[in-house]
Amino acid sequence: MSAGELLPEIEAVLREGLASKGRVLWLTGAGISAESGVPTFRGEGGFWRVDSREYRPEELATWRCFSSMPDAVWGWYLYRRGICRAAEPNAAHRALASLEATLGDRFCLVTQNVDGLHLRAGNTLERTYQIHGNLDFMRPVDGPGGPVLIPAEVGTKWAKNSWIDSRTRSLLTMPDGRATRPHILWFDESYDDNNYRVESAAALATKCSLLVVVGTTGNTNLPLHIGRVAAQRGVPILVINPEENPFSQMVSTGGVFHLPGTAGQWVPAVAERLDELAGDGDSGDGDSGDADSG
Ligand code: NAD
Repeated sequence: MSAGELLPEIEAVLREGLASKGRVLWLTGAGISAESGVPTFRGEGGFWRVDSREYRPEELATWRCFSSMPDAVWGWYLYRRGICRAAEPNAAHRALASLEATLGDRFCLVTQNVDGLHLRAGNTLERTYQIHGNLDFMRPVDGPGGPVLIPAEVGTKWAKNSWIDSRTRSLLTMPDGRATRPHILWFDESYDDNNYRVESAAALATKCSLLVVVGTTGNTNLPLHIGRVAAQRGVPILVINPEENPFSQMVSTGGVFHLPGTAGQWVPAVAERLDELAGDGDSGDGDSGDADSG
């Protein structure tokens, strides 16, 4: 699939989105990383043994579990981080990094993914709203500060079912000596703007002139909210997903187009065409004055 093969109605949507001079908002979920081989962590391989007990991911990914056995939960996150670090950004991630370089402040990306692949492909932290966090970062358990990158000395490989040792614990400490936690939104926590920039991410729905939704089932509140607000404003929406989902079901409301296929099939083509149209001068003069600095 190449940019030149996009259907005329998709071409029209891209032109309309750029002509309106608002932001070009991308919303991504686990599907965009599927072709990089990042697993869901919820299957059989996602279990974690502590002493003789097996824990489910839904139990481990909680403040409650972290507060009772931080060394084991940190071990689980370092293991998951190792899997993500062994994966490489795919063509869809790279296409979005290239598009940001062209569009500048007109580009924004809200992702549910915690694998860090968008940043590793070259998207900037400033314009990437990681609403569920990022496995590469840690932040203090208490008080202000962070998130900061996990130090390189921690390494990128971690054995399954192993706890962090005292050396790793000291590496996973803030410079002022405070203990840290993974920079991940847990199941028993709520979205907050301070750590995850969720209000800023939600506000993007009121500023965008095009929304492209890639590889998410839309089961969480914020992505659905962004889709609904954009649809109510009459913003054109493209949904890239091999399967039907709440976003693709909005097609019947008009202005929403479902591209049934994978991120690898469609994202490079769509991003490349936006890139060309912006280069042709269809990107307007932008509204970068209200960029969120987060
Ligand atoms: P999900 O697993 O619920 O849904 C994935 C979606 O991607 C599905 O709609 C599926 O049809 C689609 N999909 C599968 N392969 C695809 C492909 N090649 N191209 C495009 N789409 C494809 O994911 P979600 O909606 O993001 O929600 C899951 C939650 O779990 C999120 O909170 C997310 O943070 C977390 N999660 C993150 C990662 C990651 O960081 N890579 C991986 C798994 C889960």
